[in-house]
Amino acid sequence: MSKNEQLFQRAQRHIPGGVNSPVRAFGAVGGTPRFFARGAGAYVWDADDKRYIDYVGSWGPLILGHTHPAVVEAVQKAAATGMSFGAPTEAEIDLADLLCEMLPSMQQVRLVSSGTEATMSAIRLARGYTGRDKLIKFEGCYHGHSDSLLVKAGSGLLTFGNPSSAGVPASVAEHTIVLTYNDVAQLEEVFATQGEQIAAIIVEPFCGNMNLVRPSEAFVTAMRALTEKHGALLIYDEVMTGFRVGLGCAQGLHGITPDLTTLGKVVGGGMPLAAFGGRADVMAKIAPLGPVYQAGTLSGNPVAVAAGLATLGLIRQPGFFDSLGAKTRKLADGLAAAGKAAGQTFSADAVGGMFGVYFNAQPPKTYAEVMATDKPRFNAFFHGLLDEGVYIAPALYEAGFVSAAHSDADIEATVAAAQRVFAKL
Ligand code: PMP
Repeated sequence: MSKNEQLFQRAQRHIPGGVNSPVRAFGAVGGTPRFFARGAGAYVWDADDKRYIDYVGSWGPLILGHTHPAVVEAVQKAAATGMSFGAPTEAEIDLADLLCEMLPSMQQVRLVSSGTEATMSAIRLARGYTGRDKLIKFEGCYHGHSDSLLVKAGSGLLTFGNPSSAGVPASVAEHTIVLTYNDVAQLEEVFATQGEQIAAIIVEPFCGNMNLVRPSEAFVTAMRALTEKHGALLIYDEVMTGFRVGLGCAQGLHGITPDLTTLGKVVGGGMPLAAFGGRADVMAKIAPLGPVYQAGTLSGNPVAVAAGLATLGLIRQPGFFDSLGAKTRKLADGLAAAGKAAGQTFSADAVGGMFGVYFNAQPPKTYAEVMATDKPRFNAFFHGLLDEGVYIAPALYEAGFVSAAHSDADIEATVAAAQRVFAKL
């Protein structure tokens, strides 16, 4: 039995399903999850000391690759100075100042510890600010696992075939209106009939939780115009896209100023850190200034803040996103060409350092198109790549991530591996 198999058996004794987050269990693709022992740059090594080129990057945070020396040093220094105070520190002001400088829509920001907390708090704030209850989300978008948002969600919920969770009271879910991503007419109709009751739209501005799905320009424009017209807030959930698709995030690429933004993943450089922020008049409703409550023992944790500051400092270097974007595009184009050459129904797309691979003729634009993907073929592709030493997300509903540590040679080796895998599918 391999060490990975031994660990998976042992893990299941005291951890439900052997994992601390569901998709890690390989439920969709089958087989034994890899237990990682270490990472460096673009690579991870599993418990059997097999090396993989890593395109998961801890599901997005590791934009500089694993164990980047500057980030490790910052974390070590912060840890040695004080792991947590539960009181204000100077470094968290530095991070808040930096975020507000980098994102023009962000006038004030609060730090939290996970993307789930960020979106949950942003929604509570939107409801508290507007005095309205209803929330619009889109089918296949995942915004963390708070009750209001576990309705027709993406990511692991799609992987396990239950896009809505048990344990969410109907009286909570009834306030969430689920619409179709990229369907402008439907959005207009809902605002025309229920506009006065809608507190906010929350959206993944490029969706990465039903694979990578781009929004149409008309959809992006309509969300901003309709919320503005009806006194609702527009929440850009940039937990995944923030500082991943570009330095100005998705809102920079779209040319849209949302009322609130949620950040996570890259902003914490691999440590538990996330944030929500936006318009100062809206943020003024948060405790202790206002009546909307939100708090956290480890919020603004100094070790996490240090990792975030170190990471943001490096991605602001001139040319960072040009280089990352070019590498990610090279990967997507290389994979698409390899699939086509092998006669597969296959396509790929990339935005900044984020990519999608699809067993569809074209990159999907809607949830329905994503659901029409050839799943068994994806699973065989996943395992073929895994054998070749390439680690992509163990489910077809996830986006992939390239880091600055991936070299052109890594990308070429990945495309060559995919060619061998396609030939056998
Ligand atoms: N929003 C989006 C867009 C996400 O992709 C995720 C996590 N993948 C979350 C929120 C939740 O973040 P976390 O897992 O840190 O709670």
